[in-house]
Amino acid sequence: MSFSSDVKNELCKTKNRQPCCEKAECYGMLLFGHSFSRSAVSLTTEHTPTARRAAQLTAALTGAIVSTRTMLRRASHPAGTVSVEDERDRMRVLSAFGHSGSEVPLRLNRANLEGECCPASFLRGAFLSCGTVFDPQKDYRLEFVTPHMHLSRDMSALLGELPLELQPGVSRRRSLYVVYIKGSSHTADLLTLMGAPHAAMQMMQVKMLREVRNHINRRTNFETANLDKTASAAARQIYALKRLQDCGAGISALPAELQNLARLRCQNPELSLRELGKQLTPPLSRSGVNHRLQRITELSEKIYRERNSD
Ligand SMILES: [Zn+2]
Repeated sequence: MSFSSDVKNELCKTKNRQPCCEKAECYGMLLFGHSFSRSAVSLTTEHTPTARRAAQLTAALTGAIVSTRTMLRRASHPAGTVSVEDERDRMRVLSAFGHSGSEVPLRLNRANLEGECCPASFLRGAFLSCGTVFDPQKDYRLEFVTPHMHLSRDMSALLGELPLELQPGVSRRRSLYVVYIKGSSHTADLLTLMGAPHAAMQMMQVKMLREVRNHINRRTNFETANLDKTASAAARQIYALKRLQDCGAGISALPAELQNLARLRCQNPELSLRELGKQLTPPLSRSGVNHRLQRITELSEKIYRERNSD
């Protein structure tokens, strides 16, 4: 089950408190359905509760006879079609929402969003018909998809007017217009407004888990990078000391105050600077060890070069 269908299941359980909101939701469903014109009023959905809800609302609000059909496009995805077959019934539905059925372009009739309560219900209807929300494991994004350019602009304007500051965008996908909301908090706010607070909460929980996991990964990467640095510095020091011995000079060719540390480093290639410092008598700070190891390496390389140029 996808996150989108979880959201739609939750939305289909929402009750409209006012008759105005019931009408607004039904309008959202039909306007953003498959067709909303004199020749066809229909919507197609793979989500069965949406088909049932659309049919019930349309019949109850307009008195039209609404037929529902299920077609098995793929075994796992039965597509339900809700349509008004009779032309007089279609005219009745269209005029109930203040449409003539021959509008070009198709626009949003704001008269159907009477109260401040209504946009939430309208958006729920539109989302049930044409909406998708991405799985929060992958992205935070909610979309309304329509073939009508002006309708996509009207939707974007409506979303932008909400007090949620959603910053909607519109993009093209082939012949379709996609009105989208991005970001976890914008998406969760809109889900809550439409009537899916549980899904919104689920999304924020996934986000928090992802953040904690990323934080841990960053820290682990940081530690690994530091380990690599320690390892390659130690390798360079040990290589210089090995060549010092190979050329016959040996550690005793180094100044007396460096010899203990040089021996310690050869015997313990895995130790960090701090750990090396603790093993010296008297103990030496990390930067003290670092400074001396640099001198040891430089001197060893210098002695090796001198011996080999003879
Ligand atoms: Zn209302």
